[in-house]
Amino acid sequence: MTTNAFAQNMERKDVPEKLKWDNTLLYKNINEWQKNRTAIEQQIEKLNSFKGKMCDSAESFYSALRLYFDIYKNYYKLSDYAFRNADEDIRIGANQSVNQQATTLGTHFGEVSSFINPEILKVGEERIKKFFDEKKELSEFKFFVNDILRLKEHTLTEREEQILAGAGAISSTMNEVHAIFDNAEKPNAKVKLSTGEEVELSSAAYSKYRAVPDREDREKVMSAMLDNYKKFQNTYGANLAGKVRADYFYAKNRNYKTVLEQSLNANKIPVTVYENLVEQIHKNLPTMHRFLKLKARMLGVDQLYYYDLYAPMVKDVEFKYTVEEGQKLLLDVFEPMGDEYVSTVKKSFDERWIDYVATAGKRSGAYSSGAAYDYHPYILMNWTDDFESVSTLAHELGHTMHSYFSNKHQPFVDAQYATFVAEIASTINENLLNNFMVKNVKTDDEKLYLLGEYLDLLRATIFRQVSFAEFEWEIHKKVEAGEPLTGVDMSKIYYGIVKKYYGHDEGVCIVPDYVAYEWAYIHHFVNYTYYVYQYSTSLIYATALAEKIVKEGQPAIDKYYSILNGGSSDYPIELIKKAGLDPLSSEAFDLTIAKMNGVMNQIDEILNKKK
Ligand SMILES: [Zn+2]
Repeated sequence: MTTNAFAQNMERKDVPEKLKWDNTLLYKNINEWQKNRTAIEQQIEKLNSFKGKMCDSAESFYSALRLYFDIYKNYYKLSDYAFRNADEDIRIGANQSVNQQATTLGTHFGEVSSFINPEILKVGEERIKKFFDEKKELSEFKFFVNDILRLKEHTLTEREEQILAGAGAISSTMNEVHAIFDNAEKPNAKVKLSTGEEVELSSAAYSKYRAVPDREDREKVMSAMLDNYKKFQNTYGANLAGKVRADYFYAKNRNYKTVLEQSLNANKIPVTVYENLVEQIHKNLPTMHRFLKLKARMLGVDQLYYYDLYAPMVKDVEFKYTVEEGQKLLLDVFEPMGDEYVSTVKKSFDERWIDYVATAGKRSGAYSSGAAYDYHPYILMNWTDDFESVSTLAHELGHTMHSYFSNKHQPFVDAQYATFVAEIASTINENLLNNFMVKNVKTDDEKLYLLGEYLDLLRATIFRQVSFAEFEWEIHKKVEAGEPLTGVDMSKIYYGIVKKYYGHDEGVCIVPDYVAYEWAYIHHFVNYTYYVYQYSTSLIYATALAEKIVKEGQPAIDKYYSILNGGSSDYPIELIKKAGLDPLSSEAFDLTIAKMNGVMNQIDEILNKKK
C-alpha cells in the first residue's frame, strides 16, 4: 500500500508554480471571463434570429452554421475555464457559482440552437446539396450536416420530438430510484472479520474488503454483500426492467428494431461489431481460463473461487516516483512514438498543462480536458508519489495527445472524438508504460507485480465487461421479444453467463450461487445503455495497436495518427480501419490474446525458475 505524501493538507498557495496548471492563458481574470460570457449571450441572440430562416439561401445557411460553431467553440473555452477554476478548490463558493453561470448559459444555448437539426431535415437533401455547390466554404460542415441527414428516418416531427423529450423526465426515474435505494436506503450487510473488526459493507467498503489477503474474510465479505442483494432482487429487477422497457420505447418510436441498433447507430457502428465482440471473447475463453489457473497457482490455492478474483497475486511492490521522476520516465516510455509525440508531451510538462499536487479542497481523481480548442488540453492529477500516479498520468496524457492532435488537424466542428475511440490513446500509453517497465525493472518480484497487474486489467476490462455486455443484450432481447422480465429472470441469466466465463462447469473457478445477484450491484446497467462494451473494445484495439507499434515501428505509428489526428472527421469504425485494424475481423482479438498468452509465459518462466 502506498501513502499520499501530501495527504491533501497542503494549501494551493504553497504549491510551486511549475506543478500547477496555468489557467490565465484562457482568461487573465474573472472580469475578462464575464466580459466573454456577455459577448456569447449576444451571439446567441443573433443565432436566434436565424430561426425559421436558416435555409432560405446558401448564404444564410453558412452564416447560421458559422455562428453556431463559433459560439460553441467560445462556450467550450468559457466552461473549460470555469471547470478548471472550480476544481482547484471546490470549497470556494464564488468559483462554483461561476461554474453554474456557465452551465446555465450552455442550457440556454442548447434551447436556442434546437431549431438547427429540424430545419436541415425539413429543407431536405437536394436543397442542401445545392447549398454546398453554391458556397464552397460550407465544405467545413459537410460531415456534420450529412450526419443529420443520415438520421432522417429516425427523426420525428417537431411535436413528436417534444413528446419524447418530455418523456425523458419520466424515464430517468429508474436511475434515481437505483441511486437512492442502493446508496442510501438499502440496509447494508455487516460482517465480522477475523481481526475482530466489524465492517458495514457500503460499496466502497466492499471494494476494499473483497480484496483482503485473508481468504475466509474475503469469502465472508462477498457472500454477505451479494446475499444482501438477493433480498432485494425483485425490487432491483422491477426497476431495471423498467429501464429496459423505457429503452425499447425510445428505440421503437425512433423506427429501430432493437435498442442495440439504436445505441450503436448514433456513431454508425454496425451491430455486427457487438456480435463479433461477444463471439470472439467466447472463442477466447480458454485463455481467460489459463489466467484463472495461473491466478490460483500464484495465490497458492488448489481450487480458485469467485471470491479470490480480487485478491492480490503478488506482494505490492513499492515503486517511488516524484513528479519529476515520473515525467522523466514517461519521456523514455514514449520514445517509440516518435519525436513529435515526445516533444508535445514535454511541452505539456514545461508549459504547465498539468495540475499535479493534491491540495485541500481540490477535486479528487484525474482527468484530461481538451475543450479549449485554440489553446491546449489540461490535466488534473492528484499525485501520490507511486507507480499508480505515473500510470494515471500516462493514461491522461493519451487523452491529452488525442485532443491536442485532433484540435490541431481538424476544424472545430470535427475535432471532438467519439466515446468509441476515446480510450484507445490512453490505454496505448498504459501498454507502452507496462512494456517499458517489464523490460527495465531489476527484480523478479517487480516483474511479477507488473505482469500480474496487467493480466488483472485485461480480465476486468475485457472479459468482465463483455460478460456485462452480454447480460445487457440478453435482458433487452427478452423485452424486445415481448417476454416478461423479473429480478429472478435476471439472476438466472447473469449466473449462466458468469459460470460460462469463469469455467465453473470445468472446475476452473467455482462460482458460488450468491454471485447470481451481482448484477444488482452493478449500477451501469441502470445508468447507461450499451456503453460498457466500449471499455473492452477500446482496450482490445489499443492492445493490438500497441503490439503493431512495437513490432512494425514507424509504419504502424503513422497509421495510428489517423486516430490521433482524426477527431470526429470520420465515423469511429472508419478511423480504426485507417489505423490498420478491421473491427469486424478477429485480428485485434488475436493480437490481444497472443499478448496475454505471452505475458502468462513470462510469469510461468519466473515461477518455474523460483521453484
Ligand atoms: Zn480515460
